[in-house]
Amino acid sequence: MTREHLIKPVLDHHYPTIQYGKGVFLYDDQGKAYIDASSGAVTAGIGHGVQEIIDAMLEQAGKVSFVYRSQFTSEPAEKLAKKLSDLAPGQDYWAFFVNSGSEATETAMKIAIQHWQEKGRQGKNKVISRRMSYHGITMGALSMSGHVLRRRRFIPLLEDFPVVVPPYCYRCPLNKTFPDCKLACADDMETAIKRIGAEHIAAFIAEPIIGAAGGAIVPPEGYYKRIKEICDRNEILFIADEVMTGIARTGAMFGMQHYGVEPDLIALGKGMSAGYTPMAAALVKDHVMEPILKGSKSIMSGHTYSANPQSAAVSLAVLAYIEEHQLVRAAELKGSYLLGQMRQMADQIEIVGDVRGQGLLLAMEFVSNRTNKLPFPSELGITSRIIEKSFQKGLLVYPASGAVEGVGDAIIVAPPFVITEEEMDQLVRILDESIREVMAQVTRSELE
Ligand code: PMP
Repeated sequence: MTREHLIKPVLDHHYPTIQYGKGVFLYDDQGKAYIDASSGAVTAGIGHGVQEIIDAMLEQAGKVSFVYRSQFTSEPAEKLAKKLSDLAPGQDYWAFFVNSGSEATETAMKIAIQHWQEKGRQGKNKVISRRMSYHGITMGALSMSGHVLRRRRFIPLLEDFPVVVPPYCYRCPLNKTFPDCKLACADDMETAIKRIGAEHIAAFIAEPIIGAAGGAIVPPEGYYKRIKEICDRNEILFIADEVMTGIARTGAMFGMQHYGVEPDLIALGKGMSAGYTPMAAALVKDHVMEPILKGSKSIMSGHTYSANPQSAAVSLAVLAYIEEHQLVRAAELKGSYLLGQMRQMADQIEIVGDVRGQGLLLAMEFVSNRTNKLPFPSELGITSRIIEKSFQKGLLVYPASGAVEGVGDAIIVAPPFVITEEEMDQLVRILDESIREVMAQVTRSELE
């Protein structure tokens, strides 16, 4: 056997070679079909192999694929910035384009810090995040992320940013129950601000619905309104990390639209180009840009590929496709059907503790005991085993475990918005089988 050169996620694991994708299906070079029920990493929202996107890509490539943004602007980048601003909650945003979700959150953080510097508030340079969160893998983004597994190796190099409790009602970190809790998790922000001092805090960052760090955790009603009020009162900018929730995924164009809150900055990625090219963005509200426009007139960040016309043209085509095919509404309707089917299936399976989510960002959390919600010991690797079993059966789902000690196992189910009812039924059938098979193995050999 010849030696390998490509570094893959797990070095001794065998990965099938992809051949092509069409709609919600991916096909490997052995002809095996997979239902892409995770849209890759919750990315391929409009499905694979969409001809309109390929056409837009070729058309732009025929003109110019790349220009450097300090030399030229381009029509696709200008149009995309305006389009995103029109779609975003409250409108009136500027856009700074980057290439990944991590760059988007990190850019948003830098712009928030610069905003305060331009106002002469040099001390406001910390970002509050939640203990259960994922905002990206680069050092700045990881500093803002509550994800134990991904941080562990680099802790000495990360910024010691403050954290608050997540709005995780299934396992309330404050041992309370909604609505009697009166949103104590949101008020934890107030406590943190008092401890650190608002004069040291530039921003608060949150995923509207927590994704990889816990699995489609939807906040209780009123949570974000309270959080935004606390942020505004303390002169703290609110960054919505919509890298996973943005662009139709939750049945709204932006996740924050469910909660009636207008963020000061928004990070986008993944679904923005639906995986057809790398593309991401930090959207920045007018009032955040204002002191920068009056002051240094330049944002101290950027990447070689920022705002490249090729990716911008692809994203524009993706947004046009979503509008033309009414995929925001599709994600809402299909999401409620799939959630219903998953709940019905889970009722019969002892180890499913919770089924949750919004639109087509759904998740299941697994427990060894439903009544006391006891998680499985992490050594059992329940999440990986369910994912592996589903994979063998031709179904792709996404892990959401390992973020916080003691939280346990969860998977995300987030198919493309073009999935049909039949395909959703097939998805649920395979998932049902996979979970039952893993459950049978576990109860027999390891738990007893
Ligand atoms: N923020 C959120 C909410 C995410 O889900 C992710 C990716 N899972 C990121 C940021 C990082 O994005 P990327 O992997 O493109 O750097």
